[in-house]
Amino acid sequence: MALMTAKEYIDSLRKLNTRVYMFGEKIDNWVDHPIIRPSINCVAMTYALAQDPQYADIMTATSNLTGRTVNRFAHLHQSADDLVKKVKMQRLLGQKTASCFQRCVGMDAFNAVYSTTYEIDEKYGTSYHENFKKFLIYVQDNDLTVDGAMTDPKGDRSKAPHDQKDPDMFVHVVERRPDGIVVCGAKAHQTGSINSHWHIFMPTIAMGEADKDWAVSFACPTDAEGMYMIYGRQSCDTRKLETGGCIDQATPSSADRRHWWCSTTYSSPTSTFS
Ligand SMILES: Cc1cc2nc3c(=O)[nH]c(=O)nc-3n(C[C@H](O)[C@H](O)[C@H](O)COP(=O)(O)OP(=O)(O)OC[C@H]3O[C@@H](n4cnc5c(N)ncnc54)[C@H](O)[C@@H]3O)c2cc1C
Repeated sequence: MALMTAKEYIDSLRKLNTRVYMFGEKIDNWVDHPIIRPSINCVAMTYALAQDPQYADIMTATSNLTGRTVNRFAHLHQSADDLVKKVKMQRLLGQKTASCFQRCVGMDAFNAVYSTTYEIDEKYGTSYHENFKKFLIYVQDNDLTVDGAMTDPKGDRSKAPHDQKDPDMFVHVVERRPDGIVVCGAKAHQTGSINSHWHIFMPTIAMGEADKDWAVSFACPTDAEGMYMIYGRQSCDTRKLETGGCIDQATPSSADRRHWWCSTTYSSPTSTFS
């Protein structure tokens, strides 16, 4: 599959059955919600810029897993040059969105889990690394956005996960089945969580032998059964509703960009960036 356009990315979110709640209510059309949509537009920019030939060297890379062209946000760093281009890509996105474009945590998670699973397999003879590689090829080939889900609510910070009064203060395994695991718990402060197609879960603190059930890392679709997204209160969130939807949408500096930020329909990257 080719890299997604910004419009295809936004349309792909509509196809998911992501369960979103905000201010105590379920939001059905969350993709067009005026509080949420600006953040979706920022992720969409990571897709739009990857389509633009002038940014191809920064925004795309050749996958070391398949040899195919992938969005750099789904790439495993292979060299110092890759790391420099990653920073240039982040700087470019910062200039274009004046906001958080959300795919960085997933990108860091790919790189961390890739090397960690390799080391686990070396030590224990397991096959997590191959499993992860298959998942990442799926992500790269379908040009998906993935949330890096690490921070748990944590409960009493002086206590380990197994010592918490409420075991759900850290995500943990509650059942092991032949086809996988069942987990329970929550993650907090997730950047771009609802705007992601998949989540990679990782533990948030160092754990001991007694925390075995909490020492778990896995990937699952954002709309998996039992996943609920609670969109948190932010200090400036209702300002987006108070001015006809044209404040706090980042910093438009031309009529075209104003159209990009304030419209619910997408204008082509060439007209947006001209
Ligand atoms: C804008 C933003 C985006 C984020 N995006 C993501 C994301 O995409 N994915 C993700 O997984 N997380 C994300 N986070 C979460 C972030 O990584 C956590 O907020 C951070 O790790 C701190 O954890 P906490 O909020 O639980 O604070 P706490 O752990 O409660 O820490 C609060 C303070 O208490 C101190 N403290 C904690 N425990 C102890 C202890 N036992 N003894 C003494 N001092 C202690 C800490 O050093 C700190 O100063 C995001 C956070 C922000 C603000």
